[in-house]
Amino acid sequence: MSFLVLPDPDSGVLARRGKIVSQLRRLVSNKSSIIDDEDGRRAFETDALTAYRRMPLAVVLPETTEEVSSVLKFCQREGLPVVPRGAGTSLCGGALPLEDSIVVGVSRMNKVLDVNYENRTACVQTGITNLGISSAVSGAGFFYAPDPSSQLACTLAGNLAMNSGGAHCLKYGVTTNNVLGIKMVLMDGEIIEIGGGHLDMPGYDLLGLIIGSEGQFGITTEATVRILRSAEAARPMLLGFNSNEAAGACVAAIIGSGIIPVALEFMDKPAIHVCEDFAKAGYPLDVEALLIVEVEGSEDEIDDLLGKITQIAERHDPLVVRISQSEEQSAAIWKGRKSAFGAMGRISDYYCMDGTIPTSRLPEVLKEISRICEQYKLRVANIFHAGDGNLHPLILYDANNSEEVEKAERAGAEILKLCVDVGGCLTGEHGVGIEKRDLMTVQFSHTDIEQQIRVKRAFDPDWLLNPGKVFPLDYQKTR
Ligand SMILES: Cc1cc2nc3c(=O)[nH]c(=O)nc-3n(C[C@H](O)[C@H](O)[C@H](O)COP(=O)(O)OP(=O)(O)OC[C@H]3O[C@@H](n4cnc5c(N)ncnc54)[C@H](O)[C@@H]3O)c2cc1C
Repeated sequence: MSFLVLPDPDSGVLARRGKIVSQLRRLVSNKSSIIDDEDGRRAFETDALTAYRRMPLAVVLPETTEEVSSVLKFCQREGLPVVPRGAGTSLCGGALPLEDSIVVGVSRMNKVLDVNYENRTACVQTGITNLGISSAVSGAGFFYAPDPSSQLACTLAGNLAMNSGGAHCLKYGVTTNNVLGIKMVLMDGEIIEIGGGHLDMPGYDLLGLIIGSEGQFGITTEATVRILRSAEAARPMLLGFNSNEAAGACVAAIIGSGIIPVALEFMDKPAIHVCEDFAKAGYPLDVEALLIVEVEGSEDEIDDLLGKITQIAERHDPLVVRISQSEEQSAAIWKGRKSAFGAMGRISDYYCMDGTIPTSRLPEVLKEISRICEQYKLRVANIFHAGDGNLHPLILYDANNSEEVEKAERAGAEILKLCVDVGGCLTGEHGVGIEKRDLMTVQFSHTDIEQQIRVKRAFDPDWLLNPGKVFPLDYQKTR
């Protein structure tokens, strides 16, 4: 499919590789910050969209914002494309290098710089892992709310770039709702600070613009994030149904009632079986669809909310209504959900879609997803953040069979178009990258895209930051 096409590498740049690498070495204090040998570079040739690979020209792992600045200034002068990188867990090819690009990874910049419990903020370097933030403040009873399932590995830098979400974002919002300020290096090496340790800023909402900009505007090196007090207690319940549609209708009814659980997750039958096999989570195996609903608060509040949710569920003929009875059961329920993608990867290659729809359209969209995949003779498993309508159909296919790859891509594109058709959008939390780049015209008019490109050029006039991504290639004319 066309999204495989990436800009041709500049042969002049490839020919200058040796000289470029020796100049880069002069810009960093730790010589191990430059990786130019083949084995070393190979570790960076892909992200979690593993079907696509490109060896970068070189990799730089700076240790300070000033080093990032020197490297970008040099790359701008030399006309070298730069691909920012965190942990490389992007599912949309966002961190995929180009052959003439320098990968600039922030993984060595992973310190907690300051924690202010009175103001409920933490200032960190962006190479810290998502879980690392919560771990740093959990002793004092605080946590950082966005919790992608990849949180053990993925960095805050990647979360900022993708505006990442997670199972517990239904109540607390996604990355953009939990960040107050950033430090970012522009392509010309200038260092800017946007926002700070306080709510809101006068002027344009540049922070909102940068969060979710997929490494197109600059390289973030520091951020001030909100930390929240952990709730007194939390408890999940399992609701099993005899059809996807009944589970989907129950989700819409819970949300429509005004109750906002901390998490409301959906699994269909194939997903339940694969996750149970892997995690021994205690999921019921005789249901077609399962909801994990978690609420939090005091024990009384939890009992009250779970009671109300049970009443709503009972209107949708549940086969199973089971409230977790212990910390161990709760942990097992979440272990199953959080390891779902890994568990699925044990049985098949999968293509993970990431569209968002209005929750009220869930039942019909789930039916249509099944129809699309049946039409392509592909199996599909659905595991997703149902409460905020963020779908993750996993299309199972054989990555070594080119016919199946193409069928998976076509089915995936149809599913994303369906999301747009019902009033949703192409991506909930994984970003556009190369994966959805050519579908942007389904969501946006020519004028919309041109306007977004004007913003991109205001930050990066030569289009050197993360080229080949986000916008259809026809629009990226300078490369
Ligand atoms: C098993 C699995 C489960 C996942 N679950 C979730 C989930 O629940 N929710 C969710 O939202 N995502 C999920 N993801 C996707 C992925 O983990 C997120 O997109 C994550 O934010 C990427 O972080 P990263 O550090 O790996 O970034 P990378 O993959 O390295 O990069 C992601 C993007 O950020 C840009 N970038 C990286 N560093 C910088 C920087 N310093 N400045 C500017 N741009 C930068 C890159 O260029 C790229 O475009 C999952 C992925 C996997 C493999």
